[in-house]
This record gives sequence, structure tokens and C-alpha cells, in this order.
Amino acid sequence: MKFIRVAECYSKLEELSGRLEMIDVLKRLFLEARPDEAEKIAYLTLGKIAPDYEGLELGLGEKLALRAISIASGVSDQIISKEYKKIGDIGKLAEWAVGKRPSLFGKEELTLDRVFNSLIKIAKATGSDSQDIKIRTFAGLLSDSEPIEARYIARIVMGRLRLGVQDMTLLDALAEAYLGSRERRSLLEEKYNIYPDIGRIARAVAEKKEKGLEEIDVTLGVPIRPMLAQRVKSADEVIERIPKMYAEHKYDGERMQIHIWRDGRVKLFSRRLEDITAPYPDVRDALKAFVGRDMILDAETVAVNPDTGEILPFQELMHRRRKYGVEEAMEQYPAVTYVFDVLYLDGKSLINLPLRERRRILEEIVPKEGNIREVIYKEIDGNLQELEAFFEEAVEKGMEGLVIKDPNSRYQAGTRGWNWIKLKRSYISKMIEPVDLVVVGAFMGRGKRAGTYGALLMAAYDPKEDKYKTVCKMGSGFTDEDLSRLPEIFKPYITEVRDPSVESKIEADVWFQPKIVLEVIGDEITLSPVHTCGFNSIRKGSGLAIRFPRFTGRWRDDKGPEDATTEDEIIQMYKSQLKEIKEEEKIKEEAA
Ligand code: ATP
Repeated sequence: MKFIRVAECYSKLEELSGRLEMIDVLKRLFLEARPDEAEKIAYLTLGKIAPDYEGLELGLGEKLALRAISIASGVSDQIISKEYKKIGDIGKLAEWAVGKRPSLFGKEELTLDRVFNSLIKIAKATGSDSQDIKIRTFAGLLSDSEPIEARYIARIVMGRLRLGVQDMTLLDALAEAYLGSRERRSLLEEKYNIYPDIGRIARAVAEKKEKGLEEIDVTLGVPIRPMLAQRVKSADEVIERIPKMYAEHKYDGERMQIHIWRDGRVKLFSRRLEDITAPYPDVRDALKAFVGRDMILDAETVAVNPDTGEILPFQELMHRRRKYGVEEAMEQYPAVTYVFDVLYLDGKSLINLPLRERRRILEEIVPKEGNIREVIYKEIDGNLQELEAFFEEAVEKGMEGLVIKDPNSRYQAGTRGWNWIKLKRSYISKMIEPVDLVVVGAFMGRGKRAGTYGALLMAAYDPKEDKYKTVCKMGSGFTDEDLSRLPEIFKPYITEVRDPSVESKIEADVWFQPKIVLEVIGDEITLSPVHTCGFNSIRKGSGLAIRFPRFTGRWRDDKGPEDATTEDEIIQMYKSQLKEIKEEEKIKEEAA
């Protein structure tokens, strides 16, 4: 196929805005293509040359692109750059420049194959002469281009095609061209969800129609589009929708689809299907324990505080995305991966089995402890109180809430349906004011914090009962110097047993007389079954906790323990936070 045919089609698509007309134009283009050409058209139309998960990037730098346009057209660099500022679109610039080319030399007509192969060459060029290769290859294409071809080639090379064609429009066009009707798109979509490579799908249907699709199945190394969850506001609604459920902890980390080959190779994919193996060498190494079988697991990876075992907020994990910070981040914030699903095992796709079955298999292959472990979950049968209690317990442990799943459901790749429901703690409001809390106990540190305390047990004051009631465990915000001095500072206050004025459901490693007051800031206040502050005041059987508490660095030596923030103040803060959340929700609903 001549590339001019593709360029003309793109030009038409640019003029059209109706989806049906676009589908029709694309369908006709597909019908003229050989199967291998259909594959190339499918990628190019989305501005790609390969599926995203292969990470093959085109995006040529602007400078190089301008240089190539100058070489191919004979227009000087200065004029090209002046004209670019005027036109502002690399495609139109290339079109204009190519039009200025002296027509002395004969040119070779461009084919789709040549354009595509050159683009691959540009993307794959590496090493010291890679810039040169990229410029020469791009300039070579432009030298043989008609102006309209140059427009699209330049845009694709720069990663700026934007024809307004989405994946689903393309699938519609493929369905019309090769399966006879748009109605049959779902057949393609189903495959695309488990094998999100539009080129492969296009080639398969172009070659063998429906039969071609039968050959496409869950494959190691090809990420499956993730199943997503619907959202509800209350636990009641969860019970209405899924009375018999698996209630799973909802970890606030990074979604991770894990592909393991029996020979030890491992690939990790993000929610957006990018290959994220590089920033997680520790996860990859921990997965070595699974070698010997081929499998695909669905999981969430979180960062933990190695001293306290506390799960850290999502941002901490993101340090790893900084290019050079992986080693450091790994040490500072080791990763634990919670596996909640198994999608493939030893050559067989498991996605059509009910979750209950998949869970049974998962439990055989993934341990309950260690750095790669099974998700914590509970089977609940329509009991609201049980669900609420489990939810609070999860939030208390640093979870975002729960994901509720129907044990009878299959894995619906790429779908946000009602078989998965997320019940999240309200996270909209931030705790703006710091509080002053009394140190009542400590937990011994591990790893880097061996020999000192890993976390302190903090309490608010209840003047009515003259009691100190726990509200959080705090392990963050200390300078190294503060940290190393903690045992020395608290030594005079150590007591053999818990002071009778301290009310705690948690057993500390060391107890202190309530004396020292520290200023603490947290993200918000949540219900908690394990802390005694505000116990039974908001909900029966629950107290209040400060989530993600951090030391602000201020030792409130100017305050005695009775001057600390009171239990009532914490209750009030919780209530006003709730009011704020409700108002925010109302505003959001009105805006929607
Ligand atoms: P979504 O992924 O639903 O579009 P989002 O990216 O904002 O929305 P959330 O609303 O927080 O994410 O909820 C879904 C995400 O929760 C999943 O994509 C996954 O990363 C994470 N998650 C944590 N624990 C679990 C679990 N046990 N089961 C499924 N997903 C979980």
C-alpha cells in the first residue's frame, strides 16, 4: 500500500468530527490493506508503532526534527526555525518545507512498509551515532514525501499525531471491516482487554476473521488490562450489592501486575500497563521464590517503615520513580507486595474461573507472610457490623479502606463493574492544626533504628477522668540526632508497668510516666478499634486515631502533660472534619 493513501485518509479524518463517519473512512482503508499492513495502520492511527507496554518511544526531540526538515527540504535552519514559530505545528511546517524542495531530483514513492520500518529504526536507534541515524532516517523519509505525507510523518515522529481516533473507534472500524458489523466489536474488545496490542488484533482479524481471534489469549509478558472497582458511599450499600463477599484490605500503594516465567524472568506492569520492573528490583528479587512456574498475579505494592512495620503513604513509594533514587528509596522504604489475584498459571488462563476458585489457587502459591504475601481479607456474609468493624480495623492499620469482591465473579479485565466495590475512608479533609500529645510508651526499633525506639505511643489528655488516652503510634518526623537520643531522653520516665493514668489497648515495649509533650501533625482523624481516645463517643466499640502522624520537631517542654490536647478537642476535630467532608461532597455533587 502506498503511504499517500494512508495520509489522505488521515487528512479526511482530521476534517471529520462524527464518529460514524470516521469509522467508515477507517474501515475502507483497512479493506484495502494486507493483514500485515492492517497491523501497521492500527498502530500508526493511534500515533504508535508498538503496543505501549513495549515502551518503544518515538518522540524525536524538536531540535533534531527541525534539523531533518531543513536537510530534506534544503530550506535553511534559520528560516525553518522562524517559520516554525509562525506555524506552530511541526506537521504543517514539514508540509510547507517539503513543498519548497527543488524538484530536480526524482523521488521514490513512499510505501506504508517503508514509513513504518523507518519509524521503528528511528525509535530503536541507540548509542553514540543514534542522533545521526534518527536525523538521516527521518530526513530520508521527508525527501521522498509528498507534502501531505510529510505532515503526518512529522507528527508521528514527534509523537503528536492526534487524529481524534480512540482505541474503541479503531476496534469499531476493524469490526466493520472484518467481522461484518460494529455490533461485533465486543468480540474484539474482549481480546483487547486481555491482550492490549491493537496491531496484533488487527492482523489476526484481517488474516482469519473471527478464527484469528481464537488464537489470542492471556499471554505471559503481555499485560492484561486491570479490573477496576465501583465506588459506594456506605457499608449498607456494599451489603445490598454483594451480600456474600470477600472484604479485602485496600492498600494505598501501586497496582502491580506480576508476570513470572518458570525460568526466573520477571516483569512488573503498572495500572497503565507500563513496564515498571526497573524501579522495583527488590520486588523482582523477592519473586525469585516463585520460580519454577509460569504465572500472572494481580497485586498492590506498598512502602513500609522498616522499623515499625507501618504502611507508609503512597507518596513515599513514588520516590522510586525518581530516576536515580531507587537504591536509596529501597533501603529507606522497602516494599511489600500484597497479592490479591492470580490470572494465569502454567499455560492456562484463570480469568474465567470464579474468584473463589482463583483464591484457592492463590492460597496454594502465595504465602501469608514475607515481602510477597497474600492480601488480608475476610469472608463476610451480609453482616453489616462485621463489615464496619473490619473496615475500621483496616483504616487503623493504614489502609485506604476495603475492596469488596463477589466470590462468584470472573476477572473482568478492563472493566469497572459491580463485582468489585471500593469502600474508602474519607480522605478529603486534611488535619491542618497540629496537636500536642503526651508520650506514654515506645516500641523498639529494628533495622536502621536498632538500639533506639522505632515509634512512640502518643496520647491525648482527658481532664474529666485525669487519664491519658492513646491516639496514635508515631515513628516519623524525627531527625537522626533526635532518634538516637530518644532512649536517653526517656530513660528517667521508664516505668515497669503501665502507669494507671494511661489507658491503652496496645501493649508497648516500654512504658513511660506521662510527662513529655510533643507537637504532632497528621493527615486526618479516623475511627479506630485499637485506640482509647474518644472510645464509644462516635461509634460503639471504636476510638479515634490520628492517621499518618509526624513529629513537627517541636518538643513542647513549655507544656506539662495536663496542657496537652484533650480528648474532647480530638472528638471535636473529628466531627468538624466530617462536616467539611460532607460539604465538599455536596459541592462536588452539585458541580457534577
Ligand atoms: P481506579 O483504579 O478504581 O480507577 P484509583 O486509581 O483512584 O481508581 P482507587 O480508587 O484508590 O484507585 O481504587 C482502586 C485501586 O485500589 C486499584 O487499582 C488498586 O491499585 C488498589 N487496591 C488496593 N488494594 C486492593 C485490593 N485488595 N484489590 C483490588 N485493588 C486494590
